[in-house]
Amino acid sequence: MKLAVLPGDGIGPEIVAQAVKVLDALKSEGAKIELEQAPIGGAGYDAAGDPLPEATLKLAREADAVLLGAVGGPQYDTLDRPLRPERGLLRIRKELNLFANLRPALLYPELAGASSLKPEVVSGLDIMIVRELTGDVYFGQPRGIEVRNGERVGFNTMIYSESEVRRVAHVAFGIAMKRGKKLCSVEKANVLECSELWKEVMIEVGKQYPEVELSHMYVDNAAMQIIKWPKQFDTLVTGNIFGDILSDAASMLSGSIGMLPSASLDENNKGMYEPIHGSAPDIAGKNLANPLATILSVAMMYRYTFADPATADRIENAVKQVIAQGYRTADIYTEGTQKVSCSEMGDAVVKALN
Ligand code: NAD
Repeated sequence: MKLAVLPGDGIGPEIVAQAVKVLDALKSEGAKIELEQAPIGGAGYDAAGDPLPEATLKLAREADAVLLGAVGGPQYDTLDRPLRPERGLLRIRKELNLFANLRPALLYPELAGASSLKPEVVSGLDIMIVRELTGDVYFGQPRGIEVRNGERVGFNTMIYSESEVRRVAHVAFGIAMKRGKKLCSVEKANVLECSELWKEVMIEVGKQYPEVELSHMYVDNAAMQIIKWPKQFDTLVTGNIFGDILSDAASMLSGSIGMLPSASLDENNKGMYEPIHGSAPDIAGKNLANPLATILSVAMMYRYTFADPATADRIENAVKQVIAQGYRTADIYTEGTQKVSCSEMGDAVVKALN
């Protein structure tokens, strides 16, 4: 297996280094994984004047999977839009056709106190959000800012084709089949035609999965229900922008954004794996970041791209163990637990793995 490792910016290199420790530990046991690093985001701009350098894209195309840290930083915010780090990220997702973004929100019982919601609301939480990743208003044309009738207007286009909805629907139903067989499709069909089509296609695809109970919810209600009683959900499927917002809200249920991994898959289960958080410039370079989301992203890589659920379970169990042992980075620290740095957390996971 060839793995493209793209640390990116801010805390990216620190957290990816911990995930690499885990991969090195597996390699030392004989796992055949070849790792190759390349710059992306601001680091790509610094190295090659492009947030997605040609060589990085080539490496990512040739690899079986991609492990990404995070991109972005205030020093890049004034660059022309196409040169900004986030554009590199959007482009690599699009170029690799990674249309299905899987974002689990899971609460380890020991972290119930770190969540901003009451323990009884979140303990035992285990939901999976499937977000469409290569369509919607983020990519729709036309888009821009122009002068109309003497004033500037900004505009974007929310657009989905049937085939785009259908393929992500199949991924979501497939995942729901392996989980609790309940799928909630989230849209805004009461006001948006784009959502009306989304809902119709979901119902049509659902006929092929009679065992899965399909329900529908408007996104505003879904935002409320995720905070009110998140355990009512098993698997959710939604478009790009709604999924972006809902999955960040769901991340808070689990105590910290630093705990949540993600997978972005193409039609053949080739994937890019990354924590859902950003580059956290406020704590970058201080060895304070929580590397668990990145390490759990490696577990997802074993589950979905390498089709090796045993190793995925092993990594996830190692993370469970360090949490149970009381190790906490600053973002999940509560009194009575042991505060550790980013690198110490990585070492603890490697120890638990062994
Ligand atoms: P962020 O996720 O980087 O940070 C939000 C807050 O969460 C910060 O207080 C940060 O310290 C904290 N945090 C994030 N990850 C953490 C971790 N692993 N451990 C401990 N604390 C953590 O979001 P932001 O501040 O809105 O954005 C910062 C930069 O990241 C921006 O340039 C943004 O464009 C970029 N960004 C990148 C991605 C990505 O690469 N996928 C996603 C979101 C934002």
